[in-house]
Amino acid sequence: MAENFLTDDEIKELRKVKGTIFNIQHYCIHDGPGVRTNVFVKGCPLRCIWCANPESQITTPQLMYRSDKCVGCGACVEACPRKAVTMVDGKSSTDRALCEGCGKCVKVCKPEAREIMGYSITAGEAFDKVAKEKIFYGDDGGLTVTGGEALAHPEFTLALLKLCKNDGIGTAIETCGHAKWDIVKRVLAFCDTVLFDIKETDSRKHEEFTCVGNELILENLERINNELDCAIWVRVPTIPGYNADEENIRRIGELVSSRITRCSRVDLLPFHNLGESKAEQLDRDMNGFHSEVPSKEFMDNLKEIIRGFGLNCP
Ligand code: SF4
Ligand code: SF4
Repeated sequence: MAENFLTDDEIKELRKVKGTIFNIQHYCIHDGPGVRTNVFVKGCPLRCIWCANPESQITTPQLMYRSDKCVGCGACVEACPRKAVTMVDGKSSTDRALCEGCGKCVKVCKPEAREIMGYSITAGEAFDKVAKEKIFYGDDGGLTVTGGEALAHPEFTLALLKLCKNDGIGTAIETCGHAKWDIVKRVLAFCDTVLFDIKETDSRKHEEFTCVGNELILENLERINNELDCAIWVRVPTIPGYNADEENIRRIGELVSSRITRCSRVDLLPFHNLGESKAEQLDRDMNGFHSEVPSKEFMDNLKEIIRGFGLNCP
């Protein structure tokens, strides 16, 4: 797609579109080709039990709390207009059902035990931050919209992708694929690369791990392959004790090699346990979830299975 396809009026309108994000990271090298700026959209239709970014799951801003930093001053109790905070055994405790994420308690918490995750931003503001690093992107790099789920705020993601393409910046999204086809198609029309997650081939297990079956996800992936022309990278979060068994990885290799013929690489993403401390800061229960960070040998064995299908698995 050529640069400068938008009129000034179209740019003005696209810049106004709002979304909720929780982070922007520059100089990323693992989320698409080249050097990239990642924009993390807040909200996701899945509830993966191993989620590495539980603060990304709901679409609105959310309070995070670190009890190890709390000095028990009680300032947050006074500051909260919803009376959501009480003191328990010298530490503050928040009733999540009452908290609306307004951030007033954060402002008075001197030791920074409280933080609001997520903020509203316009596509224009996000674009300016992405475009500021344009010199580092070269021919391959650019923007990656990730999350959470890139398609959770589709109009925002689409506006940001269009503004970047219009400026000659490469575009990618990372998606769990659980979205209506109409949305997938509209957004990917302005995307050079889609990073598409496959978690589990067995739909019953997929539902057990993520709260939704995989039918819509796999159908969308196949339609992207057959009907659209963006590059496809498949990503597999690899969680020992859950989806990282050889049989599932073999079935993913079979599926991708036979049906996703335009897929240019499969990345197996090893489990890490950062999500556990974040869940604690959100007062969320992991519902008995426990996994181990896999060894290099464990990952190498699974990568060999994928390579056995003739697929590129770095
Ligand atoms: S304001 Fe901060 S340090 Fe003071 S009680 Fe509340 S959370 Fe703890
Ligand atoms: S974020 Fe707002 S509503 Fe929630 S505990 Fe803090 S002050 Fe109360």
